[in-house]
Amino acid sequence: MRQRYTSDVLVIGTGGAGLRAAIELHDQGLKVLLVGKRPKADAHTVLAAGGINAALATVDPEDTWAIHAADTLQEGRMLGDPRMVELLCQQAPQVIAELEAWGMPFARTSTGLIDQRYFGAHRYRRTSFVGDYTGLEIINALMREVEHRQIPILERAYISDLLHTGNRVNGAYGFWLADQRQFVIESNAVILATGGHIHIYQRSSSRRRENTGDGMALGLQVGAHLADMELVQFHPSGMIFPHELAGTLVTEAVRGEGGRLYNRHGERFMQRYDAERMELSTRDRVALANYTEIMAGRGSEHGGVWLDISHMPANLIRERLPRMVEQFQAVGVDITREAMQIAPTAHYSMGGLKVDPFSHATNVAGLYAAGEVTAGVHGANRLGGNSLAEILVFGRIAAQHAAEYVRQHSEQPVQAAQIEQAAERLAWASQQAGDFHRSLIDQLQQVVWHGAGVVRNEQTIEASLDQLHTLRSQAQQRSLGAADLAASLDLQSMLLTAEATMLAALMRPESRGAHQRSDFPATDPLWQRTIVIKPYRDQTEQLRLQLDTELIPTASEAVQAAFSQQEYSVAGRLVE
Ligand SMILES: Cc1cc2nc3c(=O)[nH]c(=O)nc-3n(C[C@H](O)[C@H](O)[C@H](O)COP(=O)(O)OP(=O)(O)OC[C@H]3O[C@@H](n4cnc5c(N)ncnc54)[C@H](O)[C@@H]3O)c2cc1C
Repeated sequence: MRQRYTSDVLVIGTGGAGLRAAIELHDQGLKVLLVGKRPKADAHTVLAAGGINAALATVDPEDTWAIHAADTLQEGRMLGDPRMVELLCQQAPQVIAELEAWGMPFARTSTGLIDQRYFGAHRYRRTSFVGDYTGLEIINALMREVEHRQIPILERAYISDLLHTGNRVNGAYGFWLADQRQFVIESNAVILATGGHIHIYQRSSSRRRENTGDGMALGLQVGAHLADMELVQFHPSGMIFPHELAGTLVTEAVRGEGGRLYNRHGERFMQRYDAERMELSTRDRVALANYTEIMAGRGSEHGGVWLDISHMPANLIRERLPRMVEQFQAVGVDITREAMQIAPTAHYSMGGLKVDPFSHATNVAGLYAAGEVTAGVHGANRLGGNSLAEILVFGRIAAQHAAEYVRQHSEQPVQAAQIEQAAERLAWASQQAGDFHRSLIDQLQQVVWHGAGVVRNEQTIEASLDQLHTLRSQAQQRSLGAADLAASLDLQSMLLTAEATMLAALMRPESRGAHQRSDFPATDPLWQRTIVIKPYRDQTEQLRLQLDTELIPTASEAVQAAFSQQEYSVAGRLVE
């Protein structure tokens, strides 16, 4: 017997975007249900370390929302949607105030104002923080509000399908991870807040079984469009050993607090890549610099470069970077005395579901999205600290518009045929499920790392597309191994989002930000366009992807004026 739930709006994902959306829906008087495949209060957002951006001007009084927007667009290599970026930067100070009111223990200046630190490529200090536990404290603050409102949460519950009639969603289907019992959720609107897809890469800053692109795949299955999938951010600094921890993030706050990069010759090599901004250059430039040093044989014995903060006072390092101190202590490295070995790691999905810039509605009626699962804000290079602001600003905005939609549209009850179809897909997936799917995931991650990694070209991408095709056929084979239904579904989402990433990477014949093509090393002004991916069904009902491009609108006059003040943002100064 399947369990059945009803809600006005279903929010899938209990990270920052999902929790913020649920609070808004509740406060608008709607019945809301939250679902997450991990334990509640332990979504990926808890990993966020360095901070959240808003032009508060508490430390640098010259800062404004327009300069924040100009930095975001210019450092995103003009591929971000200015309408979304402007909304984000205008509303970011409000979300900081809200978090403060909800008890967030922000670091303070000596005069009691909210402190702000530098993150790479920001003109001013505008990143508010709580040590290097900012994401965890945001989740704690939001969870207190969710619990206070008694908003129901289904935790460790996996959504396998969105239910839809025609071009309209009316619920979702899923199962409990503990015992695989299935459930149906009827809902007039759905918000996808399921995070990104960077787990398709062999080395990523994600935890296992997260960021498998589920929301993007769920959306594609019901006709939603994706955008910017080729734009995956590689963070310059991921751990490289021990093997189990490879990819784990070394926060940008290390460079923000004065960390320096060295190659095997003891050279501070950023001098050759961005002499003005040095280690505080943009993420794409620093990641490419690290990659180039390693590929040129100037790296460490473990295949990385050195990041050193040991010249700063030990007490300051312990106070500002407690998580990093602990993370390296656990592997026998004392960062107050010695350098860390690091290398680029896949970190953030700048692409995702294509949403309306003002409402965060997808092109499927009743389906909204917020957070890392969406495209639009970050262009070809995300500024550190912008994602935490984005999940809160757009979590609320998506909820406001979903609430309006629900008020204007009567419910569409879920039909028995819809349930049967979703149950059949799950039955098919469980027949395929086996331990070998985990090994196919490992293979997929290697294929994607080599095909569309820090530097890609036509040859690597095409070879990887062929290998993905082979992996897809293997995934269809019936397995006799022990059932791992979640692995089987993760693999399906990863195959689909990896294909979307490869196809878009192949289509963009230029290098721009995080998209570096060795066969097209220059930026082509004609490609200041968004690549949009539209799903369709072929004659055999197989899902296929079709690509198109769209022009990007121009920024408002206020933001253009901020551009002209300084064409590309100048170096952030190191924290004294
Ligand atoms: C190590 C690290 C440090 C970072 N530091 C910063 C920082 O300092 N500043 C900053 O701005 N950004 C930072 N980021 C990025 C930022 O943390 C994320 O982009 C952001 O938290 C994403 O939030 P979200 O709510 O969109 O998704 P997530 O927090 O990823 O939440 C997704 C939710 O969806 C659920 N879900 C997914 N699929 C399903 C499914 N099929 N069924 C049910 N539930 C599902 C998951 O269980 C989870 O609850 C960092 C990222 C990492 C990895």
